[in-house]
Amino acid sequence: STFDKHRSVFDALGLDKTNNKGVFDGEWKGSGNIVPSYNPVNNEIIAEVITGTPDDLNTAFEKVAEAQKIWREMPIPKRGHVMLTMRNALVENLQPLGELVALEMGKILPEGIGEVQEYIDVLEYALGLSRSMQGAIIPSERPGHAMLETWNPLGTVGIISAFNFPVAVYGWNCAIALITGNGTVWKPAPTTSLVSIAVTRIIAKALKQHDIPTSLCALVTGGTDVGEAMTHDKRAHVLSFTGSTKVGREVGKVVQGRFGKSILELGGNNAIIVTDDCDLDLAARAILFAAVGTAGQRCTTTRRLIVQETVYDTLIERLKKAYTQVKVGDPMDKGVLCGPLHTKEAVEIYKKALERVKAEGGEIIVGGRVIDSGPLKDGNFVEPTMTRVRPDMEVVQNEAFVPILHTMTYKTLDEAIAINNNVAQGLSSSIFTSNPSTIFKWIGPSGSDCGIINVNIPTNGAEIGGAFGGEKETGGGRESGSDSWKQYCRRGTCTINYSGALPLAQGINFG
Ligand code: NAD
Repeated sequence: STFDKHRSVFDALGLDKTNNKGVFDGEWKGSGNIVPSYNPVNNEIIAEVITGTPDDLNTAFEKVAEAQKIWREMPIPKRGHVMLTMRNALVENLQPLGELVALEMGKILPEGIGEVQEYIDVLEYALGLSRSMQGAIIPSERPGHAMLETWNPLGTVGIISAFNFPVAVYGWNCAIALITGNGTVWKPAPTTSLVSIAVTRIIAKALKQHDIPTSLCALVTGGTDVGEAMTHDKRAHVLSFTGSTKVGREVGKVVQGRFGKSILELGGNNAIIVTDDCDLDLAARAILFAAVGTAGQRCTTTRRLIVQETVYDTLIERLKKAYTQVKVGDPMDKGVLCGPLHTKEAVEIYKKALERVKAEGGEIIVGGRVIDSGPLKDGNFVEPTMTRVRPDMEVVQNEAFVPILHTMTYKTLDEAIAINNNVAQGLSSSIFTSNPSTIFKWIGPSGSDCGIINVNIPTNGAEIGGAFGGEKETGGGRESGSDSWKQYCRRGTCTINYSGALPLAQGINFG
């Protein structure tokens, strides 16, 4: 079985085959359903998790609030030391945790490790913030007055995460929530519970080393019931949701209804524009990685390729060749570039999307087959696929979370930008060009309307130092770097009168 074959990974991370408790609030427990985790390579059960319930969540919120009272009083540079311990603990566990991500989620091992590295990076970033986080001092118009801004924690950050980045999405939120003085409650995707248990164990150990109540970072695994309960709960002062636009739309409304703060990181429909003045070789390599990597299951996967018509045939010929050389297979095997889809349902989504392409008059130009024979037949494997479509087709408007790249042509830059912007989502976008005026148009007011606007790199592969997120139906949230930390804080505008008199603002005289 998968478990026995990879025994050393489970041993290193303290996981069992059957008795994994899926709730942590300072103690390990779980009173919900027993849910298996499947290996997407062969649909074998890897191990079972005793998941959590809304009741478990209720207790977790209480425990986090108690711990946060202590944590928020800790000087920020001291909180930074805790980030450093967490970072070191993750570095120690980089290999087994990366392997577990590959096993449970299905992404190839280098990407599994890369995603743990992302958490490590963001902890380093948080350590930096611990010495540099600053508020403003603002000139007061009144004599003998000082005006300044304070940034204090909001309390508890609820984190609901998607299956496709089972470590990194939590990592971005957890590190920044903690350094700003908050506690966290995490509800991971139900199909990646093992990873969330392993991560929580590592983080709890680091907290313990500093004598901080380990309930500061709670975990409640489970399904929609736990997610909904968290969304409605006023104690989730910030609700950071990463997932589909469909669910995020509802989550956003509920959180707004209780005047909570939400950070929404939803679906993308990311495009690369290829101009005739770019390095086509570089573009082809970038496109392949961006469209096929993680089997098309990144929020930033390239889903649309908008190519200047004069270079379309040349580029597509190169891509076709590259596509047929992509090794599909077990994500733990060396040389494999494309692993399985995460679930059987995703295979159906792949099939339906391709039927839709054909029904609307599009064409499959490479791939297009579910791999249902040979050694991969028991897993959720599909061929990475390219289609030829028109930009106005309905199938091109929606995000199918599978490795399908829709290709289309354009004549002028304005037309290409219009195609890029003319979808409901606004996460990531990229242009390949060597022309500086094209670059500045692209990043300017008449350019890409996305949150991530790249030049000569693909749509994926964001660094943690920038703010990550997108516009429109992607939800508007920003996470990780830049000034994203402010979203986890309440801003205090403080005016301090040391004059002994009482001058009013705007020169008002009360007589
Ligand atoms: P999903 O929306 O099905 O699930 C996301 C999470 O929400 C899971 O933990 C799920 O259990 C929970 N959930 C489901 N129903 C809920 C409800 N009614 N209330 C509260 N929580 C609920 O998404 P998924 O299939 O896990 O992930 C894929 C999607 O996530 C894609 O659309 C992808 O683009 C998006 N994504 C976006 C980003 C980003 O940063 N923008 C990053 C990763 C993934």
